[in-house]
Amino acid sequence: MGADIAAIVQKNARFTAKGQVASYIPELAKQDPSLLGLCLMHTDGRTQCFGDFDKKFTMQSVVKVAVFLSALLDNSLPSLFRKINISPTADGFNSIVSLETKSDKKPLNPFINSGAIVSLSMVAGGTPQDKFERVLGLLQRITGNPTLEVNEAVYRSERATGDRNRALAYYMKSTGILECPVEPLLDAYFRLCSVEADCRDIASLACFLARNGVTAAGETLAGRDTCRLVKAVMSTCGMYDGSGDFAALVGIPAKSGVGGGILGVVPGRCGVGVLGPALDEHGNSLAGVMLLHDLSEAFDWSIY
Ligand code: GLN
Repeated sequence: MGADIAAIVQKNARFTAKGQVASYIPELAKQDPSLLGLCLMHTDGRTQCFGDFDKKFTMQSVVKVAVFLSALLDNSLPSLFRKINISPTADGFNSIVSLETKSDKKPLNPFINSGAIVSLSMVAGGTPQDKFERVLGLLQRITGNPTLEVNEAVYRSERATGDRNRALAYYMKSTGILECPVEPLLDAYFRLCSVEADCRDIASLACFLARNGVTAAGETLAGRDTCRLVKAVMSTCGMYDGSGDFAALVGIPAKSGVGGGILGVVPGRCGVGVLGPALDEHGNSLAGVMLLHDLSEAFDWSIY
């Protein structure tokens, strides 16, 4: 208690120099690697912001939380689990290997690219554009920020270079896991990955999960069981193949993205939004993970 959060953020800022910004999406390579920002949104309504908390970044895989949440709200569990598993993986976030080697051909979990693309296909909506609007609308309501929108330059950059995601989606189409046309669905996926947010937006989505589905405005948008499931899968799969280390070192449900964002949930206590675009070998914010480790120690956050 009483830890100096600003000093903890400052102490960890030096680790930004040890990571690399994502470059496989060319527009992301333009990010400033030295940024480190933090927002804590407490369930009692207090908000604390530090460092580069007001810098905007694209959500990238952090948006997979909202995609999975939407898919859970729009489907029964049995129909969702006919298409997708909730198993952790030691493969990278854009790996294709298990889609072929696993006998059921289903993506391992909703927080790797293949699983997010399938989750999005299950979201309510007659067209991919409707599905995009469904997820973005849910995000806007949860965060209370109707101005959330797509960064067009990042979207175009992802669309131009997204051949790995095309490979994943076409492969899943060939095995019958995806049943809709691939390109429009991928377009919606790229747009959602390119939704621009700041640490406060991420923290408010996290706080919503910390409060088991209730927004800061007091609106209930998801049930307790749904939020529990999302948090459990975040705990086991949210940091990709770094999820095991993260569980041991930090011990909270979390979801990262290659834009440098990390969403962390301290159940019942607070939502955490972190920005640190310099990434480690798993694609997680390097300084962000170190920062969360120190905060977890200081405030006894681990759920284990
Ligand atoms: N848009 C990115 C991709 O599809 C998201 C990946 C990530 O954040 N890990 O490759």
